[in-house]
Amino acid sequence: MALRTIREMGDPVLEKKAKTIKEVTPRIRALAQDMLETMYDSGGVGLAAPQVGILKRLVVIDITEERNEPLTMLNPEILEQDGVQTGYEGCLSVPQKVGIVTRPNRVVVRYRDLEMNEWEMEAEEFLARAICHELDHLDGHLYVEKVEGGLRDASELEEEQEKEQDQEEEHSGAE
Ligand code: ZN
Repeated sequence: MALRTIREMGDPVLEKKAKTIKEVTPRIRALAQDMLETMYDSGGVGLAAPQVGILKRLVVIDITEERNEPLTMLNPEILEQDGVQTGYEGCLSVPQKVGIVTRPNRVVVRYRDLEMNEWEMEAEEFLARAICHELDHLDGHLYVEKVEGGLRDASELEEEQEKEQDQEEEHSGAE
């Protein structure tokens, strides 16, 4: 296993369409392992193969705080989507930035695992957002194309959220 270099916005590989995986070779397995390791190392909740320079339809996601429920999806496709959610999003390929993006609130995704077994999964809220974000990478799209109101510094947003939290605590009288 090894950490891979994360490509950043401006790198042409991030603008290309990734190819369907027809067979799980040892290289694909190694890539999936490395992508998980790279995602955990950088503190991200998802990573798509083009972000490490490989144009294959492979994404890894883990939105849990415990970082112990990795999802590895080959050839993922969204079958259904409904509802809307609007919120902040960030991307390991656009470091230190965040922006507001509207996404479906619920999706049904079909994908294959590393044994090429086919799965269908329903996801809501943050997981639905993460899936949509990662699948966009496979078609050469970054969330910045969808941002409402421009990009902001992640540190600025963090400070703002901390302040809001402090205020809420004051109001509720918590010590
Ligand atoms: Zn991303």
